[in-house]
Amino acid sequence: MYNRRKFIKISAAGASLAALSSSAFARSTILKPPPALPIVISTWDFGIVANKEAWKTLSSGGRALDAVEAGVKIPEADMNNHTVGRAGYPDRDGHVTLDACIMDEFGNCGSVAAIENIAHPISVARLVMEKTPHVMLVGDGATQFAVEQGFKREKLLTPESEKAWKEWLKTAKYSPVINIENKQHAPGNQYNHDTIGMLAIDAKGNISGACTTSGMAFKLHGRVGDSPIIGAGLYVDNEVGGATSTGVGEEVIRNVGSFLVVELMRQGHSPEDACKEAVKRIIKKKPQTAKDIQVGFLAINKKGEYGAYAIQPGFSFAVCNAEKQDLLIPGKSIY
Ligand code: ASP
Repeated sequence: MYNRRKFIKISAAGASLAALSSSAFARSTILKPPPALPIVISTWDFGIVANKEAWKTLSSGGRALDAVEAGVKIPEADMNNHTVGRAGYPDRDGHVTLDACIMDEFGNCGSVAAIENIAHPISVARLVMEKTPHVMLVGDGATQFAVEQGFKREKLLTPESEKAWKEWLKTAKYSPVINIENKQHAPGNQYNHDTIGMLAIDAKGNISGACTTSGMAFKLHGRVGDSPIIGAGLYVDNEVGGATSTGVGEEVIRNVGSFLVVELMRQGHSPEDACKEAVKRIIKKKPQTAKDIQVGFLAINKKGEYGAYAIQPGFSFAVCNAEKQDLLIPGKSIY
């Protein structure tokens, strides 16, 4: 009898403990459901219009790869965007050289670096992926391949970009201190760097990414940033998620940034935490340099949860799914 009563007491205590801990568990872990899929996210405010274009493909059941290519072509074509695509600022010798890469759900990837005279480097990158046994083509070889594939060879230096370059030539001070939020670094108060990095998950749950830029304004001729480098400017692993970067490409390359973010998510970090860890890694290696530069990461995991982190304040990213079409979120920052 005694034993039975004791058993009942213990069971009741055990049950209420279990109830308590499961509700505590619920409170601490299940804060909100993941965003609705399909979904597309991309860097900076120009990501809003790029996402809208990508959404046309995603919302009609299309493939994430097609969505990201179509999406980033919007800023590539924007004549007012001097940091991505055809109206990008030139290098210090007056050449507009563009970098881009793309990666699909199967781990296929393609890239072009320092390509000239071609307005849509992302589409050339896709063809490198689909039509060649290679991953990356650079410079004249990339342009030659593009022309062979039917792309129009065109002069990209716009009158506005030429004016900004000539203004810069007056001092020709090349200082790779880029921080978009501090616009006095840029000639004519124009932005002097930026990249559109886009990540999408389609209705089938497959992930793809694209990344395209004209790189740092007035860079050395031949300079290639992180954006066309798989693992640095972009990485996708369909089992885990995807990541992309913006900011001083050299620091992202040194730390293989986007690959690092995806691997951190594989280890269980949330997208935001993974981006923060990658930013911290950059700062830890070069604390003096990091104070003056911008690097931002943006990531999404397989569930569609997303997050971003940057060294400096001011970084933003755009999100689009069935719930929100034009959401712009400030990325958190270390400083
Ligand atoms: N990451 C680009 C580069 O270094 C520039 C940027 O996104 O701001 O070329």
